[in-house]
Amino acid sequence: MENSDLPKAWSIDPRERIKALSELASGSVSINHGIPIKRYYRSGVELERMAKVYEDEKNLEKGFFLYMKYTTLFVECLPKHPEYKSPQTSNERKIVRGKLKTIFDRAEIIKNNLTIIYAGQHKKWIVEEQIRQAEAEQKRLQKEAQLEKEAVAAKRAEMVRRETELALELEQIEKQLEETRTIAVKASEKPIVIPPPMQRQPTYPSLQTAEPSRPAPSNNNSASIISFNEAYNNAISPAASAPLILPPLELQHTLPPSAPIQIISDTGPFPSVDRSTKPAVPQIDRSTKPAALAASDMFADMMKEDSQREVIVPTSLPDKFLSVCLDNTQKNIETCGILAAKLTANNFTITHVILPKQHGTPDSCQTLAEEELFEYQDKLDLITVGWIHTHPTQSAFLSSVDLHTHCSYQLMLKEAIAIVCAPKHNSTGIFSLTDPHGMESVSRCTKSGFHPHPTIPALFEDCKHVRMDNSLTAQVIDLR
Ligand SMILES: [Zn+2]
Ligand SMILES: [Zn+2]
Repeated sequence: MENSDLPKAWSIDPRERIKALSELASGSVSINHGIPIKRYYRSGVELERMAKVYEDEKNLEKGFFLYMKYTTLFVECLPKHPEYKSPQTSNERKIVRGKLKTIFDRAEIIKNNLTIIYAGQHKKWIVEEQIRQAEAEQKRLQKEAQLEKEAVAAKRAEMVRRETELALELEQIEKQLEETRTIAVKASEKPIVIPPPMQRQPTYPSLQTAEPSRPAPSNNNSASIISFNEAYNNAISPAASAPLILPPLELQHTLPPSAPIQIISDTGPFPSVDRSTKPAVPQIDRSTKPAALAASDMFADMMKEDSQREVIVPTSLPDKFLSVCLDNTQKNIETCGILAAKLTANNFTITHVILPKQHGTPDSCQTLAEEELFEYQDKLDLITVGWIHTHPTQSAFLSSVDLHTHCSYQLMLKEAIAIVCAPKHNSTGIFSLTDPHGMESVSRCTKSGFHPHPTIPALFEDCKHVRMDNSLTAQVIDLR
């Protein structure tokens, strides 16, 4: 049994909850050795940024979750990356080392606050649980009392029924006795005299062979009466070899075995209820210890919410981007940009499309000098939520190269999207890799350049977590 209106997680000991949350965060981190390590360093910057947003919004669980993710990534996972010791990333390593202390401190502060919150919730849960158990106990007692009342009433009804039955039986017996008496009296009026005991001594052996006289057939079939007549005849018959002891009349009537008269007095007015036969009452679980709750259940709401974070795209964004790319498109050269968003209230809203320095071809586009891009994003606390590129002549889809490019975006942020603008086909696609199939297949694939991938099942799909919003506009920042 559990409190119906309180979240299940409240039943868990506060320390256990913190522990489960930490484990959930650590378990959510994995790295792909094929992804350049610089990507992870960059991802760390955005992880910290998102953690801070959640912390500022008082979403402590998510803040703590992301800080724990950060420490797991940089303390446990990244040192195993083949490029970890590369001199090219020594600067990033140094920055992260300096950061870790601050991140640990932040995580510790949130942990303490969360512990206080969890303790309060747990206390409330215990109080509610005690109230609930007291109420359940009261209900049980009421039910027990009711059952006892019903049992007494049933017993009372049974007694009344037995009494009525007995009265009828007694009446019947009285009647029979009366009839028997009448016969006896009639018999005594006949001129046959019962010989005195002295005369009934077996002093007439010669008469023993004599045929005993049969009694006149009686039209009364009562066994008791036959018994009486036989006894009577035997008594008066000279053939009787044994002295006759005529039992008193009353004793010849056998009362029905099921109706002992004394039952009335023995049972008393109304017996107390026999508790050994009372109906089984369900036992109350008096323990306040709740059943074990898996971490995934404990934070199910949080994780569910997390997987449903929306990416809000201003409706005019693709056209705005296309207008900046026009020159390239006319030259049949691809153009790409980064989708940068603000994280607020657990949703990403794309506010900027940033075009970094790049090198494009008719079917590919390579970003250059990303530092400049990062610098701009950092200035505005923007989160990378994917990328956008043109297909000057082709339709909107993700090529094999695009799949690999997008895979690394989606590995860093699972909500990452890829917008493909195909002006010749007058179409725009918003895609992401299918999870887990597309993500697993592409991240396992070690090929580069254009190469075929099995297409069934699908490796990418139209995004379901994107919402177009025509009340918003995005700024296009051209850093080329
Ligand atoms: Zn493409
Ligand atoms: Zn591949």
